[in-house]
Amino acid sequence: MGARLEVADDGERGLELGLLPLEEPLDCVVVGGGPAGLQAALTLARVHRSVALVDAGPGRNASAAHMHNVVSRDGTPPAEFRAVAREQLAGYGTVRLIDDRVASAEVGDDAVAVELGSGERLDARFLLLATGVADVPLPLGLARHWGNQVAHCPFCHGHELGARVVVLGGEPQREHAARIMAGVEVDERRATGIVEEGGRLTAIELEGGAVLLCSGVLAGGDVRQGSSLPAALGCARRPDGTIEVDMLGRTSVPRVLAAGDAALSGGHSVIAAAAAGQLAAAGIVRELIA
Ligand SMILES: Cc1cc2nc3c(=O)[nH]c(=O)nc-3n(C[C@H](O)[C@H](O)[C@H](O)COP(=O)(O)OP(=O)(O)OC[C@H]3O[C@@H](n4cnc5c(N)ncnc54)[C@H](O)[C@@H]3O)c2cc1C
Repeated sequence: MGARLEVADDGERGLELGLLPLEEPLDCVVVGGGPAGLQAALTLARVHRSVALVDAGPGRNASAAHMHNVVSRDGTPPAEFRAVAREQLAGYGTVRLIDDRVASAEVGDDAVAVELGSGERLDARFLLLATGVADVPLPLGLARHWGNQVAHCPFCHGHELGARVVVLGGEPQREHAARIMAGVEVDERRATGIVEEGGRLTAIELEGGAVLLCSGVLAGGDVRQGSSLPAALGCARRPDGTIEVDMLGRTSVPRVLAAGDAALSGGHSVIAAAAAGQLAAAGIVRELIA
């Protein structure tokens, strides 16, 4: 059971904080404990709003040993990023952290009812979907190196991929990634497999038996929604499948907001997801005080 902060001002000592059980309806249930959901919960906690953060784990970048391009956290393991955020959230008292899956949600006129995998029901004024996206698994054994020697984003992992990067695929986004890395040579042969030595990826096998030595690979990046909740709730989507939101994360369904990769058409990153989470939380507070 989480707890709610009671704020009292005795004049002499300023604010004194005491803990009371969290009352329902909660102000918000946040679904997803990645950067978007964690930041949204923090922003809500900063202004004493009651929040349940439900996360099924482990998050999109969990296979990466380190995350990059995150100011002041460059090189931090993703699990550490989450653990520190959760520890800090737990200190606020108005946040309940729940390790579970949200199985279903129903939107009423005045509240949202959420059912967890455990069967527990939560009632809240708002629902924030920070449910992320799921990457379509890569073929040829590349998935074993996903997030480390194989990545989709040059800004996140390009620097660590080394001096000889093979970009797989001819789609516009792959061509774009290759140009970001500079010094492009085009090879039109089909990739048929990978070569590994001592657990490391060392080359790409090509049709006809040739190999292309490499220190890292840029590939993948095709995604689908990380949860069926947006579709089940009837949230409008953009043509690329992302959830349609306004600047404050509001979806087409009243009381339902979305933030992070699930609602971003491009530029997926820890910082972008967290920023969207913060804006959506501000949107919720705005509605709560309206
Ligand atoms: C391999 C890889 C490496 C990356 N490296 C970097 C990097 O170095 N730097 C960078 O900036 N970005 C990186 N990214 C991108 C970054 O991981 C994402 O942009 C970011 O995690 C998006 O945050 P999010 O909160 O939207 O979603 P996520 O971090 O994916 O979190 C979504 C969470 O929602 C939970 N969830 C979904 N449905 C439910 C449900 N029904 N009930 C409960 N919980 C649910 C999931 O379990 C998950 O924990 C990388 C991506 C990949 C694929």
